[in-house]
Amino acid sequence: MSVHFIPAFADNYIYVLESSAGVWIVDPGDAEPIFQWLAPRQMVPTAILCTHHHADHTGGVAALADHFRIPVYGANKRIPALTHPVAAGKLAISSAEIQVMEVPGHTRDHIAYVWNASLFCGDTLFAAGCGRIFEGTPEMLFHSLQQLAALPPETAVYCAHEYTENNLRFAALVDPGNPVIRDRQIQAQKQRERGQPTLPSSIALERASNPFLRCADPALIASARHFDPLSGGTALSVFTALRRWKDQFS
Ligand SMILES: [Zn+2]
Repeated sequence: MSVHFIPAFADNYIYVLESSAGVWIVDPGDAEPIFQWLAPRQMVPTAILCTHHHADHTGGVAALADHFRIPVYGANKRIPALTHPVAAGKLAISSAEIQVMEVPGHTRDHIAYVWNASLFCGDTLFAAGCGRIFEGTPEMLFHSLQQLAALPPETAVYCAHEYTENNLRFAALVDPGNPVIRDRQIQAQKQRERGQPTLPSSIALERASNPFLRCADPALIASARHFDPLSGGTALSVFTALRRWKDQFS
């Protein structure tokens, strides 16, 4: 399998997955960069996979589905041109068997796809961060992230935005003694200077350095208490405080 990064808007990535099971487009927020990318390669997509309904992930779905006459997979009717509603469990596309996970919190009906030791998680888990809570509750997103963190450590993480450097600045603030975060900052800065994505990450790397997956760690408990003295009794309360703090951080 090859995973191709197609940048869109300011900081989105649309993924084109190329394998013996076909050519799939994940979260096409815009059709134009996809048409432009596919044409010189004479590549014809065979399916569209959506993680959630936000426009920067679905704005190009209808045009691509209409042009190529291909199925659209997603959680529910808020996905434009949806043909195949999916729920948690196994999803067969051509010869491939994909694991679908329900990971609400950023939106109430957010899903993630796992295939070939690769995770496509939209706006739930980011490199060194996590999505904002728009429709769900902190409990929902916390539980969803725990599920993702339990995937095999070598799983490659393909999230949908290039937010890594900003997320690492926050991670360094709330987990200041963590050497993995410093190493990631140096690496990410080099990648961005070369115009490269900082992705994919891995579950192992996220477990070692993503503050939102480390809410039982004493350093994160102490930071959460600094922001909200009433937090810190449970990992969920630490998560909730860190998420609120990150909402104010820039
Ligand atoms: Zn979103």
